[in-house]
Amino acid sequence: MDLGLTDATALVTGSTGGIGRAIAEALAREGANVIVNGRSEARVTAAVQEIGAAHGLVADLATEEGTAVAIERFPELDVLVNNLGIFPDAPFFEESDDTWRQVLEVNVLSGVRLARHYLQKMLERGSGRIIFIASEAAIVPPPEMASYSGSKAMQLSLSRSLADLTRGTSVTVNTVMPGTTKTEGVVELVQGLYPDLSVEEAGRRFVREERATSLIQRLIEPEEIGNFVAFVASPLAGAINGTALRADGGIVHHML
Ligand code: NAD
Repeated sequence: MDLGLTDATALVTGSTGGIGRAIAEALAREGANVIVNGRSEARVTAAVQEIGAAHGLVADLATEEGTAVAIERFPELDVLVNNLGIFPDAPFFEESDDTWRQVLEVNVLSGVRLARHYLQKMLERGSGRIIFIASEAAIVPPPEMASYSGSKAMQLSLSRSLADLTRGTSVTVNTVMPGTTKTEGVVELVQGLYPDLSVEEAGRRFVREERATSLIQRLIEPEEIGNFVAFVASPLAGAINGTALRADGGIVHHML
């Protein structure tokens, strides 16, 4: 399927690794001019080369300064994927105010600042895509990840608020909610838990024991999220707007 993304300019925040990188790869495969973002020059340069991306953007997009750098270099975008996210795994009683502030800054404010500029431009042009990468934790919040789940729930609300500004245009704003995905951090986690098993087996055991409601009973491959997000970012997904899309392997036991 040709997604019609040739030459679309697309920024994926936090895309030197993990899900962001898989999204950048999928968009680049579709011919988009992808902007890979990270904080380290070396990692950005390597990712740009390996992906065949059009540009690298070394900037901390969780800060006002970093956002200003992005806007100066790339004043307009066709696609903005707010992927950047951190997940401190700490018991609620041990999570400090600083941790909460940092989570909100990185997971929520980064997308707010970028959307404040880029959504405006998209509305002026009448076309564009903004996609927030949230998590199934937004709607099934576990007690050991209160700040993370709270920030992801905020992304759902924010995304819907912004979508309401797109009325009558071809701009869309949506959220994608992945389930547990086989990124570097998750591989490290499951290998630490089950050192005698292969990554594949450790992933399946983790899902069986810790994510029992999953229908696919395995970790999600980053490419599966990347391909789905590329579709949502494409002109083919014009009827999808203001919604939260689950790509969680059926982990949330709900009809919608
Ligand atoms: P990751 O940590 O594997 O990758 C994130 C990338 O962003 C890294 O390359 C990191 O260096 C970069 N980065 C971090 N902070 C940055 C900053 N301030 N500025 C620029 N770059 C920065 O993360 P991931 O697991 O791929 O998660 C990506 C998104 O998907 C997050 O929003 C996360 O909440 C969400 N998510 C992940 C999972 C999962 O199982 N991995 C599940 C559901 C949702």
